[in-house]
Amino acid sequence: MTQSAQELLSILHNPTPEEVSAVEKAFAFAKQKHEGQLRQSGEPYFLHVFETAKILAQLGMSGITVAAGLLHDTVEDCDVSIEEIKKEFGDEIAFLVDGVTKLGTLKYRGADRHNESLRKLFVAMSEDIRVLMIKLSDRLHNMRTLSHVPKDKQKRIATETLEIYAPIAYRLGIRKLNRELEDLAFPYVYPKEYNELEKTLGKEQKEKLFKLEKFIRSVKKALAKEGLTNVSTDYRVKGFYSLYKKLLRKDRDMETIYDLSAIRVLVDTPADCYRVLGVIHASWRPLPGRIKDYIAFPKPNGYQALHTTVFTGDGNIIEVQIKTRDMHTLSEYGFASHVSYKKGGAGADLETMQWVNSLLPKHADIHHEHVTHSKNKDVPKWIKELVAYQEHSADTETFKEQIKNDFFSHRIFVFSPKGDVVDLPVDSTPLDFAYSIHSDIGDHMAGAKVNGKLVSLETKLKNGDIVEVMTKSSAKPNKKWSALAKTSTARRHIQRTLFKQNKDKR
Ligand code: MN
Repeated sequence: MTQSAQELLSILHNPTPEEVSAVEKAFAFAKQKHEGQLRQSGEPYFLHVFETAKILAQLGMSGITVAAGLLHDTVEDCDVSIEEIKKEFGDEIAFLVDGVTKLGTLKYRGADRHNESLRKLFVAMSEDIRVLMIKLSDRLHNMRTLSHVPKDKQKRIATETLEIYAPIAYRLGIRKLNRELEDLAFPYVYPKEYNELEKTLGKEQKEKLFKLEKFIRSVKKALAKEGLTNVSTDYRVKGFYSLYKKLLRKDRDMETIYDLSAIRVLVDTPADCYRVLGVIHASWRPLPGRIKDYIAFPKPNGYQALHTTVFTGDGNIIEVQIKTRDMHTLSEYGFASHVSYKKGGAGADLETMQWVNSLLPKHADIHHEHVTHSKNKDVPKWIKELVAYQEHSADTETFKEQIKNDFFSHRIFVFSPKGDVVDLPVDSTPLDFAYSIHSDIGDHMAGAKVNGKLVSLETKLKNGDIVEVMTKSSAKPNKKWSALAKTSTARRHIQRTLFKQNKDKR
């Protein structure tokens, strides 16, 4: 198979001459730099960056982002400096490539209760939504080719995908990406559960698809009789992983899950959606309590559609989703469609980034997150926050103010050597870190290592640093410490201990 820059360009919506030349140049550059490198599958490495760029183009990202996608591994895996990228491709593309390279240093450490923090750290470190999109596309291609990776690595990568990447895609509203990531990861993370599900459903699946197609034909006929002809239909079979999650919630009772499979009816206007619903209810008896008007009352993540579940008359129960074509694009591609529609494919800008930032929980909630999470799994905190965001978004000034005070411009995330995530204000030092772990550790701090290197106590910590505190029983706070500490917790402890020491001396 031969890849070409033309193949990528043909997916882009009206690329500018600048985008065309960026993609062509990046294509040639990456091809040359990855020359001779092979993936574990034995395929040329270039295929991976090409496929990553293709996913980006399919998601509706701009030519600039697609070019950066082609270059995303050149700094990490080839002998290319970021300066060279800057010289050849300009600041914007270099910024994106640099962002992806930096994210590569972030490793999943597998502690469940830190996943939420990790997701936030990931988003915060990306700085630009396009960096995140490249990383997600990179991961999608790696997941598609996971079978070539050594067994011991497969589970780690798949778990990381399930815990970190898929939820981020979900939050960005890119269901298509979220579903594929989940379904690719599921068999590696839960092999037993996957096989069980496959066994139960595999048999039914074929029969089900046949019935769906038959039902779709009857629906189209009924709609046409009422003059509704500009209608597209398709069906969707629920992703295995989301089905698995749903089964867990419903005590594994398959019978109560009616949206295992659903048909979609797409029309042009909301008014047509209601007409379609009318026709369907006149022809098939709806199941009580399952009629949902998400057009009048959109879901907190913005999802819009009419849902109903009907008896098809031949012993089947099928969910019908009715949407406008715009609503459908938005629900599949989320923010990515937002970008390409609104900006004519020009890529995400500050506004979009702010929108994404606003999806992130604010600082005050961080420490309680895992508590509420386990108690109330069905309504994650971020959904509540999205609701709050939507209520506020009408008020632009308040919104801007929120952004200005945005948590991420004031906080950093650092790790303990065990992988615990601690969030601290910007300019925090190892002292703040030590006191945030325990006052005893702070009080006996003798030194610190950041990313494995000894550092002085006044070192300012950065996002993603791994901080190790060394203690000695003879070590104790001195006056200089309270000037070095940034957090009030650390200062308060230092002053209290100093005061006690002075009292003891007298
Ligand atoms: Mn890669």
